[in-house]
Amino acid sequence: MAIIIDGKALAKKIRQNLKVECEELKEKGIIPKLAVVMVGENPASKVYVRNKSKACHEVGIEYEEYLLGEEVTQQKLLNLIKELNDNKEINGILLQSPIPENLNINEAFKTITYAKDVDGFTPSSIGKLCIGEETFISCTPYGVIKMFEEYNIDLTGKNVVILGRSNIVGKPLIQCCLQKNATVTVCHSKTENIKQYTRRADVIIAAIGKSKFVTEDMVKEGVIIIDVGINRTENGKLTGDVDFENVQKKASYITPVPGGVGPMTIAMLMHNVIKATKEQNR
Ligand code: NAP
Repeated sequence: MAIIIDGKALAKKIRQNLKVECEELKEKGIIPKLAVVMVGENPASKVYVRNKSKACHEVGIEYEEYLLGEEVTQQKLLNLIKELNDNKEINGILLQSPIPENLNINEAFKTITYAKDVDGFTPSSIGKLCIGEETFISCTPYGVIKMFEEYNIDLTGKNVVILGRSNIVGKPLIQCCLQKNATVTVCHSKTENIKQYTRRADVIIAAIGKSKFVTEDMVKEGVIIIDVGINRTENGKLTGDVDFENVQKKASYITPVPGGVGPMTIAMLMHNVIKATKEQNR
């Protein structure tokens, strides 16, 4: 039976440590503050944003939400981001995705100043990650790496297969795993016969958004499974991209959904806000 990687407990520990750091900053008169920008009424985004605001409250980070209507223009969105860039009370800026398709999200991310890029999505942060410089690492990949570290899982020489190549999860994960000396393979919707890659994998990180996509026959004995996917079934239950019940019988380590990568993502966002605050006040 696999060891279940407890993202919920690890995230709690990280938040408790950050709370102490936050109190130390407040003793110096520095109050960390996160601004979250949302465009339109996406129900899933509302849940994510609520969880982020709860985590901020717990750690002691001030939280401010900016809600823009569906009909907002690109220019108005960029103007708001520029105002937040210039606002000395704001230490971190997060643009919640998705945003309406008529808006250019990459341009919006690029407008966020590097110093406040707590999501790690700006070209500066991504470029620094690629060349191995200290930077803001996007929160989900960062959370995955923290899990490996906490459970003493050494990626050196391991065959890591990443399922999904999105800009926010799959692509930054490639760099994070390379830095841990893994041999990395990336599969996506155009990959033929995915099973031939997953069956050879020592580690599989699934981030495609397809419920129970990874099945028992696709993995080898002893595989380490990180399930990033969050899917909702017809009866409202959350599932990952991995068939947890059956795959766990073969795995050595596995993350559950919920209670795995999700809480870690939010904990690493809190980490990035504290990091940004400290760097801005150095
Ligand atoms: P995304 O932008 O939709 O990207 C999905 C990726 O999966 C794409 O690269 C796509 O390939 C690939 N893909 C889709 N169907 C596939 C298939 N049948 N076989 C192989 N590859 C396939 O999604 P995302 O934002 O990266 O999110 C992925 C999942 O993680 C979602 O369930 C999301 O809710 C979840 N998520 C969780 C967290 C967390 O904190 N736990 C954070 C972020 C995202 P192409 O590039 O070829 O289209």
